Amino acid sequence: MKEYESRYKMSNKGKLFVLSGPSGVGKGTLREHALNDLSNLVYSISCTTRKPREGETDGIEYRFITHEKFEEDIRQNLFLEYAHVHSDYYGTLKADVERELEAGKNVLLEIDVQGALQVRDKIPEAVLIFVAPPSIETLESRLRNRNTESEEALRVRLSNAAKELDLQNEYDYIIVNDDLDKACEELRRIIHDD
Ligand code: 5GP
Repeated sequence: MKEYESRYKMSNKGKLFVLSGPSGVGKGTLREHALNDLSNLVYSISCTTRKPREGETDGIEYRFITHEKFEEDIRQNLFLEYAHVHSDYYGTLKADVERELEAGKNVLLEIDVQGALQVRDKIPEAVLIFVAPPSIETLESRLRNRNTESEEALRVRLSNAAKELDLQNEYDYIIVNDDLDKACEELRRIIHDD
């Protein structure tokens, strides 16, 4: 990984931004706004072993791959980071990120806290941004209204949320998403000015 880091630092490259926060906090919406507003910002599409939800397309929201393929890619050391989240694998391919940064693009990852901390270890100049809910109760009602998960999956997501919130102080920035317009503007400013 050392070799990767030094190559990374030498080039005239873009910056890496990592967005995390519990499921249902509104990361997806914030990400979309940032990508619309900032022309030099690109999103790195993750790989996952979870099944596509209705309306999701392979290669757009995620690359949906099998457990076997994911584990093979781990063995080949292809991931910048990966984690087991809500009982599936999720990961960011090194080559994707590297290619965009080398082209001078700023890259946005939307990944969980375990992945974010791995990125920070490997690339200390990455900017870590945590999106927090105003309260855990607000989060639960947002997740219920979204209606994408079974009761059991929802419970797993809420228990993971509590663990994620415990780690928010590890991040460079915390955005409390109680007003969407304000939160979008905060994220835009962080990426634009950092
Ligand atoms: P969802 O299944 O709702 O799309 O995502 C579940 C969680 O996985 C979210 O917290 C999301 O940020 C995280 N996630 C998505 N892609 C990645 C990735 O490439 N790496 C890691 N570590 N987490 C990811």
